[in-house]
Amino acid sequence: METGSSPFLHPQYEALSRPEIEALQLERLHDTLLQCMKSPFYRKRFAESGISPQDIRTLDDIVKIPFTTKQDLRDHYPFGLCTVGLDRVVRLHSSSGTTGKPTVILHTRKDLDQWADAVARCLYMTGLRPGDIFQNTSGYGMFTGGLGFQYGAERLGLLTVPAAAGNTRRQIKFIMDFGTTAIHAIPSYAGRLYEVMEEMGIDPRRDTRLKTLVIGAEPHSEEQRRRIEQMLGVKAYNSFGMSEMCGPGVAFECREQNGMHIWEDYYIVEIVDPVTLEPVPEGEVGELVLTTINREAMPLLRYRTRDLTRILPGECPCGRHHRRLDRMKGRSDDMMILKGVNIFPIQIETVLMQFPELGNEYLITLTNEDANDMMTVEVELKEFHDDYQRLQSLTREITRQLKDEILVTPQVRLVPKGSIPVTDGKAVRVKDLRKTLI
Ligand code: ADP
Ligand code: ZN
Repeated sequence: METGSSPFLHPQYEALSRPEIEALQLERLHDTLLQCMKSPFYRKRFAESGISPQDIRTLDDIVKIPFTTKQDLRDHYPFGLCTVGLDRVVRLHSSSGTTGKPTVILHTRKDLDQWADAVARCLYMTGLRPGDIFQNTSGYGMFTGGLGFQYGAERLGLLTVPAAAGNTRRQIKFIMDFGTTAIHAIPSYAGRLYEVMEEMGIDPRRDTRLKTLVIGAEPHSEEQRRRIEQMLGVKAYNSFGMSEMCGPGVAFECREQNGMHIWEDYYIVEIVDPVTLEPVPEGEVGELVLTTINREAMPLLRYRTRDLTRILPGECPCGRHHRRLDRMKGRSDDMMILKGVNIFPIQIETVLMQFPELGNEYLITLTNEDANDMMTVEVELKEFHDDYQRLQSLTREITRQLKDEILVTPQVRLVPKGSIPVTDGKAVRVKDLRKTLI
């Protein structure tokens, strides 16, 4: 635990016991259900499923409430799920639309206030304090990682640098000039920052004051986190959020770096089987379903996030009883089915990142020549090699370990550094070029 200051930013919520958390959740769920009845969308939903807010007497009764999906948000784009007059809405954010048509989330002033509190709480939990200099490399604008971290970090009293995305040399100049101590970056970009520092002859451990990295917004493996920590000489904390749940600040790692506490005074958490939609046994992986219990403009009931994770069993030594989500396994829509086997990109990354000879970038391509599913994994070498035999045996070893992990044999290609294109936003790891066969 941190010394010399309280371990909690909001002890009145962060230090609650399980029974206290659950009592608060039930109270807030009731308020939320009443709020939802102000929207024609939810009134219709409730009427169709024959339930009313009064039927929800315990937290377990939540399963009686119908799910809300991204499709609902699309179908009622932009304002159809709003539960307050638009004159009370002060901000609109839109999902970056990684997987289709955009959706919109609306916020009242109070919603924004609570969101900033959640993000401040998360940053505090990693040990950041006023005096720290926090540089945010998220895109600003509609993407919630920009303003979300900006207001949260300011709320905590950090000197906040809205550097925004891209222009890596300029980012590094800011890090050097301002003495940046903490950075928020997506994992793929953290690797990029290091590479450019190397090109510029900068050693982050020797030449910068960096100590904390907040990484999130896209799936990454424990191996990738450790790599990034070593490269930059920082502690990296996993940060999970999504536009529909405001943005960053939903779940975050504490100093233990072992699972992300999800703020249960903001959300009711369920993990369901993505096919049957029934709750999975405790501790098993399934789809994360979240109900917001403190939102005014656009509460979401039992929202199907499509993200696959599990609740970590046991207590966290940090003293918070808000449960911990395991590292995201991916989205249900990221899952590749190859020769009948279900595979997540993160499984492949976990194997690749264990090879010190390999760089951070990789690309998985799926094809189906002759009706036969094929996977090619291109991965960058960290350094140039011309020892053909060494490369061949490395390729064989990677292929063998991948086969052990994913049960199909991919074709592995080692490529020179810089030959896999990097995008400005979230990394694209899979290209599915398979043709539908009739
Ligand atoms: P979009 O849905 O357009 O990508 P968002 O920015 O709202 O826009 O993305 C939220 C999604 O990003 C989450 O549902 C999840 O799939 C992914 N994500 C966010 N944080 C993490 C994280 N720490 N680990 C893994 N995936 C994450
Ligand atoms: Zn903890």
